[in-house]
Amino acid sequence: MKKKLRYERPTITKQYSGLMNKFGSSSLSRPTVDIDGVSIKSLCEGYGSPLFVISEKKIRQNQKNAFRIFKNRYPKVQFAWSYKTNYLDAVCSVFHQEGSWAEVVSDFEYDKARKLGVKGEHIIFNGPAKSEAGLLNAMKNKSKIHIDHFDELFLISELAETNNIRAEVAIRINMDVGIYPIWDRFGFNFENGESWQAINRIIQNKNLKLVGLHTHIGTYVMSAEAYRIAAYNLAGLCKRIKNEFNVSLEYLDLGGGFASHNTLIGQYLPAEQLVPSVEQYADAITNGIFDVSFKSEDLPTLILETGRALIDDAGFLITSVITNKRLTSGKRAVIIDAGVNILFTSFWYKHNIQLCQNSGVHTEDTAIYGPLCMNIDCITESINLPSINRGDKLLIKYVGAYNMTQWMQFISMRPNVVMIMENGKVELIRKAENLDYLLEQELLPKKLKLIPV
Ligand SMILES: *Cc1c(COP(=O)(O)O)cnc(C)c1O
Repeated sequence: MKKKLRYERPTITKQYSGLMNKFGSSSLSRPTVDIDGVSIKSLCEGYGSPLFVISEKKIRQNQKNAFRIFKNRYPKVQFAWSYKTNYLDAVCSVFHQEGSWAEVVSDFEYDKARKLGVKGEHIIFNGPAKSEAGLLNAMKNKSKIHIDHFDELFLISELAETNNIRAEVAIRINMDVGIYPIWDRFGFNFENGESWQAINRIIQNKNLKLVGLHTHIGTYVMSAEAYRIAAYNLAGLCKRIKNEFNVSLEYLDLGGGFASHNTLIGQYLPAEQLVPSVEQYADAITNGIFDVSFKSEDLPTLILETGRALIDDAGFLITSVITNKRLTSGKRAVIIDAGVNILFTSFWYKHNIQLCQNSGVHTEDTAIYGPLCMNIDCITESINLPSINRGDKLLIKYVGAYNMTQWMQFISMRPNVVMIMENGKVELIRKAENLDYLLEQELLPKKLKLIPV
């Protein structure tokens, strides 16, 4: 009889259209004139330029899609929105409406989540610098406090004892998953046994209840395999805790860090070709957990602290051209009205920049600079653009993550942010700052009030 061929499991790989192929990448000539059906021109007329625009529809799609992908692979999944990625109230509220908890890394983020109505027990409190008052407040609200270091562990223990509370805690664990440099300044180390020590100390402490284990291995992590290793290590610890102390943990929290579809500076291929899909991240994480066997009743909930991958492509920045220039090298430069003070991510991303009106067809290598009187204010060193005029609009894409939290008032102030709602209505969700806003925080000593000029 003929020998059977070896069976190989079929795989499906997601393909993206419109990418670089043997004819090169597609040209820039077709203008983008609207966002979610709302014309860019009317947005600028109503709210000025520069202008941040967020799509409610896209956020909901991203969240639903990612949640479905995880839920198909693992029975108990909970997302927690990473506040520092974008903590505008309107943005957080969309995520909360979609079922996300809040993941915060400072006292003020914690208070912001509470103010929005998030229940105490649905807040994950991370970060290396929580205050004593913040910790006590979180304990009283039954939030999940993720301990970062031994001094914090001792402080929580003391606060819990004095106030007669049993605090719900987890520990943050750092480990070698093949991503370098290792983020070993956060949490307790896995390999050298520090995390096991911390776990022991918590289990033996009557004022502390160990409810979970946490790791956040990095940000824009381009290796799904790293997550498999991390999940396997956490699941192994969880199992060991069950075996040695008969304690079942409620959850394993694998953090965030999934890469978004922005291309890093210095990366040759576009992000879509290099970055793992949500499916690949989800496969890696759930495989890592299922490599360890749990009884059904002991299977921990899988928490993900979702950040940039769910918000980046829901955010846009509309900017206007101030002028064209020729540099002494002969290269063309375009100055726009949005600088690095509001577009922090231009330091590490090669953003996708679109024309918003019909322009010439002849393109040339161009540098784009912001309006700041500072040499570092460079949005991109090199992009092929046709000639554009003063007043023309450019759309900078994938700016939803980190820009609206890391932005600063420097030379120019922060502009309006609008959200395009699912029904097409445009809502102002953060007002542009003005001089009154700035001066509200300043105090002028009396002696300095008279200026003799
Ligand atoms: C920043 C952060 C996240 C979210 O990271 P992304 O890279 O935006 O996905 C999640 N967890 C912790 C602890 C963080 O500090």
